[in-house]
Amino acid sequence: MIRVIAFDLDDTLWHVNPVIYRAERLLNEWFREQVPGFEYDMRSMGEYRDEVMKEDPDLAGRVTELRRRIIERAMARNGIADATELSTKAMEVFLRARNEIEFFEGALEAITEIAQDYQLGALTNGNADIHRLGLSKHFSFAFSAEDVGAPKPAPDLFHAALEHTGCSPEEMVYVGDDPIKDIDPANAVGLKTVWLSNELRPGPGATEPDHIIDNISELLQAIRSLDH
Ligand SMILES: [Mg+2]
Repeated sequence: MIRVIAFDLDDTLWHVNPVIYRAERLLNEWFREQVPGFEYDMRSMGEYRDEVMKEDPDLAGRVTELRRRIIERAMARNGIADATELSTKAMEVFLRARNEIEFFEGALEAITEIAQDYQLGALTNGNADIHRLGLSKHFSFAFSAEDVGAPKPAPDLFHAALEHTGCSPEEMVYVGDDPIKDIDPANAVGLKTVWLSNELRPGPGATEPDHIIDNISELLQAIRSLDH
């Protein structure tokens, strides 16, 4: 019997690229207004990224802190005082925009329906936040790679969900768009898996999902077909 449905977020419930582009544009506007003399150009950001990653490889799975550290480093190099405080404020601007998303058509309806029969949760490598997204009324748990220390395809997020809900692996369905980061590791942990097929990440992974859907609105039916 299935008790829990755990969701990947980015590109499973909305397209993430447009969200990030917009958040970066708003962040740039904020820099122009709030940090005169600071140039935030993508090329030098790449260099600062390499620098801080080399100093602290653990930042690879901590997208919020990584971005803050890159901004902090860039500000310090540009002779900006208070780089730590300003980079923290900048991340607040970024995160607010990053959580202004447009759900896939039918996603909210599917979530609302599924939440009537199952416990829902989110497992993400990114920095979407169910509270800011208005999903906390449907989702009873959410873990990010930043919380648990290692991003998918590491098993840590799946283990966190199992421990939190107290259910056994076959009582949990995991829904994601990425064959390698979502489906393979969830299968390895023993969860049931639903792959939202898409052109961005066609795979193949090393394993097969239990069910494939083309549209998130097919999810409840997919879950029902696995729940016997
Ligand atoms: Mg995804």
